[in-house]
Amino acid sequence: MEKTNQKVPFTVENSMKCICTQCPVQRASPCVKEKVKKAKEMMKQRESGMTPRPDDVPGLYCASGAATCRDIDTKQMCICGNCPLWDVYHLGRGKPLGYYCRDGTAR
Ligand code: SF4
Ligand code: SF4
Repeated sequence: MEKTNQKVPFTVENSMKCICTQCPVQRASPCVKEKVKKAKEMMKQRESGMTPRPDDVPGLYCASGAATCRDIDTKQMCICGNCPLWDVYHLGRGKPLGYYCRDGTAR
């Protein structure tokens, strides 16, 4: 029997818990830096309650799929295992095991 597929919803709440912005894989990426800057600006004007587009969020890849930034360094260590969402959504029992920025959505 197939195991249940755990899916992480793409929500603002989950994006605030994501620790991808602290990850060594993204640290040296100018593309990610630019998105972080824009995301911060967007958070400031969030009264409208609108959810950002997945492309604009430099994280939560377990929900949104592989990163659009091509300059990330996936030879560095993924830190998803330290993320609060890792336990909430039992990501250690799913696929892929971290590196969602490279390998796509958690299933
Ligand atoms: S598990 Fe990884 S990709 Fe998903 S929210 Fe946490 S740090 Fe981000
Ligand atoms: S998915 Fe994992 S490897 Fe990719 S940026 Fe987030 S923490 Fe780092």
